[in-house]
Amino acid sequence: MEKPKLIVDGKRLDGRGFEELRPIKIEAGVLKRADGSCYLEMGKNKIIAAVYGPREVHPRHLQDPSKAVIRYRYNMAPFSVEERKKPGPDRRSVEISKVSREALEPVIMKELFPRSGIDVFVEVLQADAGTRTACLNAASVALIDAGVAMRGMITAVAVAKVDGQLVLDPMKEEDNYGEADVPIAFLIRNGRIEAIALLQMDGRLTLEETRRAIELAKKGVMQIYKLQREAIMRKYMREGEDYEGSAEAAEVAKELSENEGGSEKEGGQSEQEVKE
Ligand code: ADP
Repeated sequence: MEKPKLIVDGKRLDGRGFEELRPIKIEAGVLKRADGSCYLEMGKNKIIAAVYGPREVHPRHLQDPSKAVIRYRYNMAPFSVEERKKPGPDRRSVEISKVSREALEPVIMKELFPRSGIDVFVEVLQADAGTRTACLNAASVALIDAGVAMRGMITAVAVAKVDGQLVLDPMKEEDNYGEADVPIAFLIRNGRIEAIALLQMDGRLTLEETRRAIELAKKGVMQIYKLQREAIMRKYMREGEDYEGSAEAAEVAKELSENEGGSEKEGGQSEQEVKE
């Protein structure tokens, strides 16, 4: 098929600006039987991640006495793409599973779980480019949902070069007909980007373009990171729910709020007393 124009009147085919992400939806804890799980949409991509473990490793000869063994399986459902995808692993899914595991491994505190295994399954229910990065975002949330100790969050997005222009988070047409596709994952700790966990490049970029692509990806991941955190907070801090504290605690809270007016002055005095 002839390459379509991917940028028309300064806009992308789906109306986005160059530095704009697709709409994202993230929900943590969607599967009952998994220890941790996440459902994530990024544009038309629909992903489910399920984490099992830390648990005993089978076969046992795969156990490591000093740390946990991490396994990551990326799989595309046969109905996830336009033409039915042949079920089961293929070269592409084996490669994606490998690089994604390698991106996550240093972030998981494996040394805390000797002899055990942590299995991460990601299922692509609907694909529209950028599935490996969307899956990593979902896997990170699912790992945290499973209570696995992590050094930070892995957050990923792709940057593409289309019609000579760098664009954030390419969708299918941009991925197919673009000049380059660069999926990038970052380690984010305490709200700061600390390291690159994955960087692949399909196509060609100059060094300068690569630098700009990384900067663009950084802008994108900070927005995704916020949504990942919010998804976890939504599950573990149900702020909208009725509070059923004890009557005693309610009484103390009432007293505290009534005294609030004079508390600053009093606080000041007691601080001085401590110093003296
Ligand atoms: P990513 O999904 O991480 O961007 P690729 O660049 O390899 O990985 O794939 C880009 C897109 O091509 C996928 O998201 C999917 O929409 C489509 N695709 C991948 N494999 C197949 C396949 N076997 N059949 C049809 N479409 C596919």
